Amino acid sequence: MQKPKPKVAGRSAPSPRMSAPRPLYSEAEVREIFRRFAVQRPEPKGELEHVNAFTLLVAVVLSAQATDAGVNRATRPLFAVADTPEKMLALGEDRLGDYVKTIGLWRNKTKNVLALCEALIRNHGGKVPADRDALMKLPGVGRKTANVVLNIAFGQPTLAVDTHVFRIGNRLGLAPGRTPDEVEAAFLRIIPAEYLRHAHHWLILHGRYVCKARKPECTACIIADLCKAAEKTSAVPAPLAELAPLPADGTLEEPVS
Ligand code: SF4
Repeated sequence: MQKPKPKVAGRSAPSPRMSAPRPLYSEAEVREIFRRFAVQRPEPKGELEHVNAFTLLVAVVLSAQATDAGVNRATRPLFAVADTPEKMLALGEDRLGDYVKTIGLWRNKTKNVLALCEALIRNHGGKVPADRDALMKLPGVGRKTANVVLNIAFGQPTLAVDTHVFRIGNRLGLAPGRTPDEVEAAFLRIIPAEYLRHAHHWLILHGRYVCKARKPECTACIIADLCKAAEKTSAVPAPLAELAPLPADGTLEEPVS
C-alpha cells in the first residue's frame, strides 16, 4: 500500500532540497579559500609522470593504492619503450609485469592495462576518448580515473575525489558526503567556476602535504582562519605566498592510506 504523503498546513511538504542544512561556508568564504590556493600554486601540476593522454591513463590505473612516486619509478622506463596502446600490448603480460612489479596489486593491474589497450585499439582507434562515459567503459577505469584524465589530459573542469579530496570535503565540512560521488557533487556545487580547472590538484596537494590524514598541520595552513574543522589546532593562517614547485621525484609524498 502506498504511504500517505505528509501534509503541511496551507502548502505542500518541503522538498529535500528546501530542507537541506545550510552550507557551513558562505560563498565569500569558499571563494577566499580557493583564491588562496590559487595564489599558493598558480599552475598546479599532477605528480604522475606521463608523456601523452594514453600514458597518463595507464599511470592513473597503476596508481590505485600506490604512491605517485612509486608509480613514476616504474613507469619512467616503461613509457620510454611503450607510449601507445599498440606498443604496450606488444610487450605482453610477462614483460609488462617486469616493469610494474614494484607497484602494489601489479598482477591485476598488468591484466587491466593490457585489456585497456585492446579496448582502446578496438573501440577508439588507439586514442584515449575525451568522454567520461567512454572512459568508464574501459577495463580498470572508474569515475575517479576518468575525471583525472579528463582534467589533466583534456583540460576539462572535472573533480576527481581521491582519499585526500574525500577527507577534506568531510573534515572541513566544505563538501560533506558519504561516498566519493556525493563529495564530488558537493564540491562541484560550491567551487567558483574560475577555480574548477585546478581545484582537484589544489585539494589533493593540500590534503597530501598540510591537511594530512593522521595529523593536520594547521600551523602551516593558509586557510586556518577560515577552516571549520572540529580538529583544527590553529586559527592563525600561515603566510600566503607562492610555493616553489614540488620535487619531481615525489620525495615529500605521503603514502596513500
Ligand atoms: S586548519 Fe587544519 S584542519 Fe583546517 S584545513 Fe588547515 S590543516 Fe586542515
